[in-house]
Amino acid sequence: MSEMGIMAGFACAFPTPFSKLVVPVGIGGIPTSFPSFAAPRRKNLLRLTNAQPQVGAEKQGTTTEYGFQNQNIVWPSPNDEIPFWKKKFDWWDNSQDFSVGIEKDSDQLHIIHVTAEMAPIAKVGGLGDVVTGLARACSARGHKVDVMLPFYECLHKDQIDQLKLLLTYDSFHDGDWIPTKAFHGEVSGISVIFIEPSNHFFKGQYVYGGSYNELEAYLFFSRACLEWMQVTGTQPDIIHAHEWQTSALSLLYWDMYHHLSIKKPRLVLTIHNMEHYGECRKEQLSKCGLDGSIYATVDKAVDDRTIGHNPERLSLLKGGIVYSNAVVTVSPTYLKETLNSGWLASTLIMHRDKYYGILNGIDTAMWNPAEDIFLPLKFHAQNIKGKKICKHYVQRGLGLASEGSLADNKVFDDTEKVPLVVCITRLVAQKGLHLITHAIKLVEELGGNMVVLGRASDGRVEREFESLANLHNQGPSIRILLMYSLMFFSEELSHMLYAAADFVLVPSIYEPCGLAQMIGMRYGAVPVVRKTGGLADTVFDMDDQSNHETANGFVFEGIDEGSLNRALERSFSFYKERPAEWNDLVRKVMCIDNSWNNTAGKYVEVYNSVRFDPYVPL
Ligand code: ADP
Repeated sequence: MSEMGIMAGFACAFPTPFSKLVVPVGIGGIPTSFPSFAAPRRKNLLRLTNAQPQVGAEKQGTTTEYGFQNQNIVWPSPNDEIPFWKKKFDWWDNSQDFSVGIEKDSDQLHIIHVTAEMAPIAKVGGLGDVVTGLARACSARGHKVDVMLPFYECLHKDQIDQLKLLLTYDSFHDGDWIPTKAFHGEVSGISVIFIEPSNHFFKGQYVYGGSYNELEAYLFFSRACLEWMQVTGTQPDIIHAHEWQTSALSLLYWDMYHHLSIKKPRLVLTIHNMEHYGECRKEQLSKCGLDGSIYATVDKAVDDRTIGHNPERLSLLKGGIVYSNAVVTVSPTYLKETLNSGWLASTLIMHRDKYYGILNGIDTAMWNPAEDIFLPLKFHAQNIKGKKICKHYVQRGLGLASEGSLADNKVFDDTEKVPLVVCITRLVAQKGLHLITHAIKLVEELGGNMVVLGRASDGRVEREFESLANLHNQGPSIRILLMYSLMFFSEELSHMLYAAADFVLVPSIYEPCGLAQMIGMRYGAVPVVRKTGGLADTVFDMDDQSNHETANGFVFEGIDEGSLNRALERSFSFYKERPAEWNDLVRKVMCIDNSWNNTAGKYVEVYNSVRFDPYVPL
């Protein structure tokens, strides 16, 4: 067990009546049930910036029943001046040794990811998690992996190791050569090259939604990455682009840089979500130095929906599909769905032989309840008692009705059961907003707790959830925590909620893969999901007799409220009425291997299949 593994206790900076309770808990090792990246060791990669000194933590290390040593819990209260998720946490270094125990691939590749997001320094949603997780998994298999990322003003720079300027060079935009800096640093053990133009691109408080033209900024970034490879003579085997933001890179590569000095790389594009197509005017594409008008054909990048309009438009995502050597989407079911519907289906069918569906994984070092420094108490599948403490801790800290009572440093099952549902999500239509709002009402009626940790980018949605928060947040059942307030802008809180939850709700209308259900399961939260995309590939209904072995959650199909009602009611009954089976189910979902170790190999196969591709798309 690592040193970090025994240092998770933290204390409230401003003790309150609740926060004076100190719970010492046990000694023990951390068996993990399936291969995962190795334990964190030395320095910080995930930490809070508004750290407060620890006070009041009384060290007592005697009892053993939780399987972890010497963890002192100072119970939080909603009245704490500093909320429990904003306290000081220990250093958590997950950059070291994540390759221990992972078999190396015989043929080693150089892969460069070009991306708009990377966790934890620039994460908005799953894209950030996926880039970091896949990069670490491939690196663990012996490949050389770099990530290229815009040097956003809002990057969490304290989480970048050894940041230094590599070079200053010029890259093209709209008739000018823009002085541009390339920095290098390490993030979670991965080498990252940061591109910083000297103009206004990528400035502002957030990754997306700055006061610059986003499309033009990412066109600039795509070209600046290739320009950097050209001036430094860097020739990876694979350039791996993600989403519409970096899709134009393949056009720039095959029609410009491949004719200059970069010959070796082949291009892979991952589509994480087909909601955004990178709609672009021809003149806008021309700003990166390509002739936008030559891409306005059906076989290249015209946006089929605009054919016959004046003017017709382009789709960078479509261009990326056509011009990449391989295209991957993030689950087998989403692959089928995208071949069957949506205006890009005909393009995908045309390129079917290079289109793959590979399920995302999760980074089991970053998401590991047995090592997670943000939890008041760690736990693992062999001993889930700590999970109960996490639940009690969150319920108390948020002022929710608690399940069980606290005495003798233990939570006793002597009260009515109060199942805790969490929903951690971007608040956009795709995520099933009407089902989330319905669940809030239903959970309250059924006597449970529900916490929504939500992030809305649309003002109308924000206002709707704000008024729901005003309506419910004073009561004992519901907390709606919206991330427009920096108070709730918190990766740490998301870790605590997954650990505390009995259920993780993902009622998406469509979901390319979905990480929340996989992370939830890793933390012993049973998923309640709508059967779509990657949710259909990872969650199997408990009442489906034909699926006894794989059954791991509660699934519904309709997008109506009645379908959700039935799934939630079944899940609550199971929780309340079958306690022994419930504990088995919690242990079972924690042991499911949704790690990148399981799926990164499929990406490596795709890389190898195109590596020597003589084929220049088109
Ligand atoms: P998407 O990429 O569509 O947002 P995913 O389920 O693939 O959805 O990934 C979401 C990731 O973002 C998960 O790691 C989840 O925990 C995190 N996340 C989503 N919303 C929030 C939030 N409001 N606060 C903290 N983390 C969030």
